Amino acid sequence: MRRRGGRRYHWHAMNPPTDCARCGQRAVSEPVCPRCGVIVAKARDRRAVPREPQPPPAAFVEEDEPRPGMPTWSLAVMALGLGMAGFIGLRVWQKAHRPPPTPTEAAEPAAPGRPTVDAPPPSLGPPMYVPPEQLHVETGQLSEADRSKADDLARRQATPASITAADVQAAEDLLSRHADERGFRSLLEAVLISAATRHQQQHQFSQAIAYLQRAQQVQPASIRASLGLMEVAFQTGDWALAESAARAVIALDPRHFDAWQGYGYALMRQDRNREAMDALRTALAIRDDANTRSILARIEKGMADERGMAERRVSHFNVRYDGEEHEAVGREIVRQLEHHYATLASTLDFEPATTVPVILFTRDGYYNASGAPAWSGGAYDQIDGRIRIPIGGITTSLTSDIDGTLIHELTHAFIADRTRGVAPRTVHEGLAQYMEGKRVESMLTREQLRALADGRLGGVGGFYLGSLAFVEYLMANRGQGGINDLLKAMGETGNIDEAFRQVYGTTLQGSQRAWAERFRQQHGSV
Ligand SMILES: [Zn+2]
Ligand SMILES: [Zn+2]
Repeated sequence: MRRRGGRRYHWHAMNPPTDCARCGQRAVSEPVCPRCGVIVAKARDRRAVPREPQPPPAAFVEEDEPRPGMPTWSLAVMALGLGMAGFIGLRVWQKAHRPPPTPTEAAEPAAPGRPTVDAPPPSLGPPMYVPPEQLHVETGQLSEADRSKADDLARRQATPASITAADVQAAEDLLSRHADERGFRSLLEAVLISAATRHQQQHQFSQAIAYLQRAQQVQPASIRASLGLMEVAFQTGDWALAESAARAVIALDPRHFDAWQGYGYALMRQDRNREAMDALRTALAIRDDANTRSILARIEKGMADERGMAERRVSHFNVRYDGEEHEAVGREIVRQLEHHYATLASTLDFEPATTVPVILFTRDGYYNASGAPAWSGGAYDQIDGRIRIPIGGITTSLTSDIDGTLIHELTHAFIADRTRGVAPRTVHEGLAQYMEGKRVESMLTREQLRALADGRLGGVGGFYLGSLAFVEYLMANRGQGGINDLLKAMGETGNIDEAFRQVYGTTLQGSQRAWAERFRQQHGSV
């Protein structure tokens, strides 16, 4: 490895065209591989730096972005402004629960760059609330105080913002003093669900979950709390909880379409693909639905792409690869993945809850299976949570390049999990490269740094470099701890700007502007 690095340096000094170490593109003469965006060489060639100022790219094609062969529903979800990082299960879930678009909406192109609206904060929605009159308690034995308390709670449970912990306690008291009054049981359930909704809206998920689980106990024959739990679980990316909540609904209502669909999605995210397909087929037998068909088709394609592969299940990964050809490589990659996992867990101070599926493909198999652009050296898919990597032609001594790809894609998986899918693309790509050990100042010549600072490096390469420089700036500002706080805050608030404000005192855009200005001062022409 050392020798290889030395040789590469020598190449750079000489500056001849070179083959891209990442994607194999032949005779690359630019500093950034035109095919995969990886930095090929510290080229001093002036032609490498565009002379003309280029507008910043409007849309960044990159390894993580679904491309036009994707099912339309996912593009539609992206059009909601969720971007690459737009969704983990919840987004799919929300989309799945949205009424079908009207023809005019559907005609609107899913154009990136169009003013976008984030999905509304999830809530259990009006149907979850019980009309107050249904909660009226008919009993002659009530004190006036209890009766008016019950009436008050029945009225206010329809407005979650008004429900406090004291209200939950009051509803608990009423039921404990009138244990056989079924009306009080329904009232407590309604108050608990309402309180859970309030916490969910404030992103206080553990409180929401605790109230919903209590509601399940109070009213075991009702599916409402379980549906609420399923929704919170999707919002937080807790697939095991989503699975158990969906099961609970199905046990009470075996023909509940949403529960079967959610069950199937939660199983897919846990890499239990056959069960997932069965669940989704059951959902489709209850009701035909385009989104469900898309998810099913996606799993079926994944299964077909991975047919005949050997699998190695280790603590944090399910690694699949072509058994005969890549047994030794697979073993080595598992070893490296575990090593990178430990590094990321301690650096980011966090561990993803779910096992990460990693699928190693021959080169052709990869481009077919991942749907990634030709320049991509690996991909992390936020819809199914899987890492796909081409390993064609490599041997057991992993090149530093494949190793870089492993930690890069694994960083995406950590970020997606930590931020519950809301991290913006620039943070994703910047941090993933940073964790690879890349630093712009050691990758670029002074002239290239100047081009970057002046905003003259466009395209995929410019985006990756700018993202890396931005993350380096954030690191310089508040260190790794700041980055970790940022990711955590994104997951907790579900709001990128709010998270940036908490840690860096300004929005994402404000931070980017501050970085650009500083970077211009350091490296720019003026
Ligand atoms: Zn390349
Ligand atoms: Zn990436």
